[in-house]
Amino acid sequence: MKHIVILGSNFAGSTAAFELARKLKGEHKITVVSPSTDFLYVPSLIWVPFGRRKVKNISFDIRGLMNKKGIDFVHDKATKINPGTNIVNTESHGDIKYDYIVIATGVSLYFDGIKGLESKNEFTQCIASPKMAEKAYEEYKKLVKDPGPVVVGATQGASCMGAGYEYLFNLEKELRKSKVRKKVDITWITPEPFLGHFGIEGIYGGKRMLEIFMKMFNIRWITDASIKEVQKDKIILDSGEELPYKLSMLMPPFKGAAPILNSPEICDDKGFIPCHDTYQHVKYSNIYAAGLAVQVKAPFKEMKTPFGVPKTGFPSDVQGKIVANNILHAITGKSKEKAEAFGKIPGICIMDAGDKEVLILTNHLFKPRQFEIMIPNVIASFGKWMLEKYMLIKNKRGWAMLP
Ligand SMILES: Cc1cc2nc3c(=O)[nH]c(=O)nc-3n(C[C@H](O)[C@H](O)[C@H](O)COP(=O)(O)OP(=O)(O)OC[C@H]3O[C@@H](n4cnc5c(N)ncnc54)[C@H](O)[C@@H]3O)c2cc1C
Repeated sequence: MKHIVILGSNFAGSTAAFELARKLKGEHKITVVSPSTDFLYVPSLIWVPFGRRKVKNISFDIRGLMNKKGIDFVHDKATKINPGTNIVNTESHGDIKYDYIVIATGVSLYFDGIKGLESKNEFTQCIASPKMAEKAYEEYKKLVKDPGPVVVGATQGASCMGAGYEYLFNLEKELRKSKVRKKVDITWITPEPFLGHFGIEGIYGGKRMLEIFMKMFNIRWITDASIKEVQKDKIILDSGEELPYKLSMLMPPFKGAAPILNSPEICDDKGFIPCHDTYQHVKYSNIYAAGLAVQVKAPFKEMKTPFGVPKTGFPSDVQGKIVANNILHAITGKSKEKAEAFGKIPGICIMDAGDKEVLILTNHLFKPRQFEIMIPNVIASFGKWMLEKYMLIKNKRGWAMLP
């Protein structure tokens, strides 16, 4: 009997675990190690800072379902992976020996690269974790009571600009609803060379569409923006421009999660796992990775202001399934090995833009693409709401085989 250990229990980790449980039918042992007992539907964190969702509405305890599917759940943090001995160290459950390991530990937020952000968002807000999104809601309420300028954006080196755009347009809409919009100047700052690059070299018509949205909603934007320093009430750009703010939300760069950074033999200098297109480690054949943990090199040349590639939910799910298939192949030889380069995975995303939304579809995440379209719906936004319901139902039932 082989022992497969999966680190992480959200998008990529739970998909790999449920698919392995379904395919291996109890013939091999599966253990999930995760510091969070909850599945969290991360894309809906953009609504928490406006009180439209509470974290409890978009998360649920996944342990019971894991156990029902024959998966052992270890509620703990992995601290280090030792590829020589096939052992993963944990904070309070000792050493766990594995035959195969799947790394689906997501990312850590790298605030330290920018002066003034080192104190983990003391001055500015972020929406990349439940706690931070809840704090952002408290700050939003203060802004409504005492309006003033707002700066929203992504720092140089960031890769999750999409969530920043969603926060921006939702903020604009909520301020209008609260009847204080006229008292709030909003500035969007982004390392992208043009609006809607998104770290994937843009989508046909996207730049124009976002420029129209910005003009329509009276939002000033600065592309190629690089932050020199964040102070208590202003952001200073490398260009020397100073942007005062009462509220600021900035998406920071990502690094690999702590246990990966602590295992330098298996990762690059940013803590991401170099993999083949089978999502098997380039050097250690019994190590696999999926989701945000995977190293993805940008397909475009380095820009004046650096930024990265967004690793979204759909590819994390696809990678989780590929990993499960390939571990089945390695153990039993039953299935054919699968491979799909990150850039060849289709792009499927809904950008909520306040009372409007944009459906983004591409046949490949990276160019060249044969098909790419952005479909705006400026009358209402319900696509993201429906996707949230679907994803929560799917994951509450462990139906990982569904897209
Ligand atoms: C605000 C925001 C909005 C987004 N919106 C969208 C969107 O609209 N559409 C979209 O497709 N994508 C979106 N994304 C991206 C999407 O959320 C990610 O692609 C997805 O969460 C990646 O899944 P993952 O399993 O790799 O990582 P995560 O979902 O981050 O899961 C990481 C897992 O690792 C576990 N872990 C952490 N440390 C350890 C440790 N030491 N040991 C063991 N386990 C550990 C965690 O508990 C967690 O279970 C958004 C992201 C953010 C931040």
